[in-house]
Amino acid sequence: MKKLKRVLGALGMLSLLAIVLTACGSRKSLSQQDVLQNDRASNTITWGVKADTKLFGLMDVKDNQVKGFDVDIAKAITKRILGKNGQAKFVQVTSQTRIPLLKNGNIDAIIATMTITPEREKQVDFSTSYFDAGQSLLVKKGSNVKSVKDLNKTGTKVLGVTGANSVANIKKYAPKARVLELSDYAQAMTALKSGQGVALTTDNGILYGMASQNPGYKVVGGAFTKEPYGIAINKGQGAFKKEVNQALKEIEADGTYNRILKKWFGNVAGFNYKEAAR
Ligand code: GLU
Repeated sequence: MKKLKRVLGALGMLSLLAIVLTACGSRKSLSQQDVLQNDRASNTITWGVKADTKLFGLMDVKDNQVKGFDVDIAKAITKRILGKNGQAKFVQVTSQTRIPLLKNGNIDAIIATMTITPEREKQVDFSTSYFDAGQSLLVKKGSNVKSVKDLNKTGTKVLGVTGANSVANIKKYAPKARVLELSDYAQAMTALKSGQGVALTTDNGILYGMASQNPGYKVVGGAFTKEPYGIAINKGQGAFKKEVNQALKEIEADGTYNRILKKWFGNVAGFNYKEAAR
């Protein structure tokens, strides 16, 4: 009798182990999942967008919606890939959190003022570029900073955002300056206003958005780098990337891209949006 109990007990343990193993086996790791297939099944694409960046992705507190060029492009691509009832879901990212959120599978793609760079290409894949920005400077009106050269002095403080390649760029173009990193663009603007730095540096499109909200500030120094924006996708998601590139082509061909470009940049004083167009 004792022997039988022991045998039955062992069999029970074995079947439990089998159940646990099957459950683990059926949950595919992120790299084994097909993002395009999952998105088609849920009829939803989850995009990482900025929520602190006027013109590209900014939270509207009145209706709790993020609005901007990147957001509208994401919506248009979603409709192209999933059909007109396809849903675009938005998750807020910052320059620092966007790659980790993508790699963890919290989002399917990043469309957030993100430059295609060789360093980033080691970690993620990019779509073809959809917007050509360039790095510039935002200063208080009347400032004697006129170009990036004026920042190359010991003791000069420049403001940037963690995770933005603008920080590394400014260290190259003005190596003597000290760069103070803030966690997002709203905080960087507050720091500029409180005099923590003589200039805020990032891409021209972003800075023109800030200048339009803050009339005491202006963009100076022209574009001293080239910042082609791409949509970042996890490596190994070739089918999804192909669809995104195809959708970009189609929205360009049917005039959707130009309509969105004009909607956000058509009336931004001083910004030549035609140079940024794809
Ligand atoms: N385009 C630059 C970058 O990808 C600056 C803008 C941003 O912080 O997102 O880092």
